[in-house]
Amino acid sequence: RRVALEAALRRAVERKEMFLHFQPIADVGSGRIVGTEALVRWRHPEFGVVAPDKFIPIADETGLIIPIGEWVLREACTQTRAWHKMGFRDLGVAVNVSAVQFAQTRLLTQVKKILSESGLPASCLELEITETVLMRDAEATVATLKNLKEMGVHVAMDDFGTGYSSLSYLKRFPIDALKIDKSFTQDISVDHDGSAIVAAITALGKSLGLKLVAEGVETQEQRKFLEKQHCDRMQGFLLSKPLPP
Ligand code: C2E
Ligand code: MG
Ligand code: MG
Repeated sequence: RRVALEAALRRAVERKEMFLHFQPIADVGSGRIVGTEALVRWRHPEFGVVAPDKFIPIADETGLIIPIGEWVLREACTQTRAWHKMGFRDLGVAVNVSAVQFAQTRLLTQVKKILSESGLPASCLELEITETVLMRDAEATVATLKNLKEMGVHVAMDDFGTGYSSLSYLKRFPIDALKIDKSFTQDISVDHDGSAIVAAITALGKSLGLKLVAEGVETQEQRKFLEKQHCDRMQGFLLSKPLPP
C-alpha cells in the first residue's frame, strides 16, 4: 500500500487530484472570521480521499512535498484573493509549510512570486511551521524568518506544546503567533491541568508579544475559557469543520 501510495502521489498534482479545504479562524471576543487555514486533501480515484496525516509524511520523505506545497500555496493565495475581490477585504490565510519545504532555498522566491501573481497582500499570508523547522539549521532558519518578516508575511508556530517547546526558540526566532495544539484545548473542560496549560501558554505568548490561536475548539465552555484568558483567535469544529471554498 505504501509503495502504491508513493507511486500515485507522484502523479497526483499533475492529475489534479489535490484540492483544498478551508477552516475559518475567528476572533475570540467578537466571533468575527478573520481568516482561514488551508488544509490539503487528496482524492485518489481508487483509494478515495486520503487524509494529510497519511500522505504528508510520505511527501516529505520523497521530496514530493515541494511541488505539492507550491501548489497548495498558490491555490490558497489565489482563493483568498478571490474572496477579497468579493468584498471580504482583509481575510487572511494560513498555509502549513513542512520542514523540508522550509529548508529549500527557493522558498522565499516562491512565496514572493506567488504573492505577486495572485495579487494577495503579504500581510494576509501566514505560514505555519512546526518546531522541527526550528531544530534544523538554526542560522539559515533565522535568515529565512527575517526575510519573510521583511516581506510582511506572518509566521505561526503550529501544534505548540506538543514537541520540545523549547522556550529558547521563542526568544531566538522572529515568529508572530503561537497555535495552541488541539490536545490542550480539548482538555480545557475535563481537567484542571489541561486548563492550566492553556492558560500558561497564553500568558507566555502574550508577554512575548505573540498572537495566540487556539486549535480544536469544540465547545462553548472552551471558547469562554479562552476569552477569559484573552486568547486572540480560535479555530475548531465549534465554528466550522474545514470546508470547500
Ligand atoms: P494542523 O495544521 O494542526 O491542522 C489542524 C487539523 O485539526 C486539521 O486536520 C483539522 O481538520 C483538524 N481540526 C480542526 N478543528 C478541529 C476540532 O475542533 N477538533 C478536532 N478533533 N480536529 C480539528 P487535517 O486537515 O486532517 O490536517 C492534519 C495535519 O496535516 C495538519 O495539522 C497539518 O500538519 C498537515 N497538513 C494539512 N494540510 C497541509 C499542507 O498543505 N501542507 C503541509 N505541509 N501539511 C499539511
Ligand atoms: Mg496548521
Ligand atoms: Mg496544529
